[in-house]
Amino acid sequence: MKHVKVNITRPLNLSENNTQYRGRFAPSPSGFLHFGSLIAALASYLHAKHQQGVWLVRIEDIDPPREKPGASDTILATLDAYGLHWDESVLYQSQQSDLYQDVLRQLSHQKLTYHCQCSRAQIKAQGGIYQGQCSNSDFPQQNNSTRLHNQHGIYSYQDLIQGKYACSKVLAEEDFILVRKDGLFAYQLAVVVDDIYQNITHVIRGCDLLDPTTRQLSFYQQLGYQAPQFGHIPLAVTEQGYKLSKQNNAPAIDNNNPAPALIAALKFLGQNVPDELQGYSAERIIQWAIKSWSTDHIPKKKQISLE
Ligand code: GLU
Repeated sequence: MKHVKVNITRPLNLSENNTQYRGRFAPSPSGFLHFGSLIAALASYLHAKHQQGVWLVRIEDIDPPREKPGASDTILATLDAYGLHWDESVLYQSQQSDLYQDVLRQLSHQKLTYHCQCSRAQIKAQGGIYQGQCSNSDFPQQNNSTRLHNQHGIYSYQDLIQGKYACSKVLAEEDFILVRKDGLFAYQLAVVVDDIYQNITHVIRGCDLLDPTTRQLSFYQQLGYQAPQFGHIPLAVTEQGYKLSKQNNAPAIDNNNPAPALIAALKFLGQNVPDELQGYSAERIIQWAIKSWSTDHIPKKKQISLE
């Protein structure tokens, strides 16, 4: 097993031995914020602010075909209206291409990546997990995906909210994609590189990312950086069990009347919301929530139905 260090230069003000809590919310602009994403934004914000931490917003706009025009600005306006104010300038992943390329160059130089011809349909036909067929070939980059020679295969970790979590070994050991066939950077590459670049210490987000976290932990090891701590909150799902998501057109939340959705989100997160909060403004509700925040009563469930 190779132990390597990839160099990711951070902005000048961020030293590697910074110990201050740095959290983030990282929406993809594939739609407007809905109740499910409000819960994730709120939980990551409160967890950071309860510990006097810094909270950042990063727009994960690396997939133009899935982007909804105007969504980035609307997401930021919604966060503002809900009293969730970020501490440093917003980072847009669309402006991070040079850094991703540089990391890929370093990994390729160390023979830790390869190009793969397999289509999604072929992998699906083999049971859904890629088996490493292309790892010893020398396919060109063009029209092929780029995969990591996954040397670590971490498949269990201690989640701050869900407790010990394990995913399947084959999934953990898969050589996952860093660059897609269409040339776009893959989520796993961009999310890990940017969490390192921004020196993120804590990631609080939805349970749909419990499994991908194991890949991200492997990738941190491969790159030679310490991983943040991860905590996953339950997903809000419809009565039929569908995740509220931008892709399935979950209704956007109301920017003009944030208080009711904030209170509903706090209740969803198991917070002990007193009745008098009902008449408060968004800013006052947030102030109350920062002080009272506790992860003890967040349900240890992957999903909760809203009806
Ligand atoms: N951009 C991802 C999403 O909107 C979230 C990524 C993350 O929090 O790591 O689902």
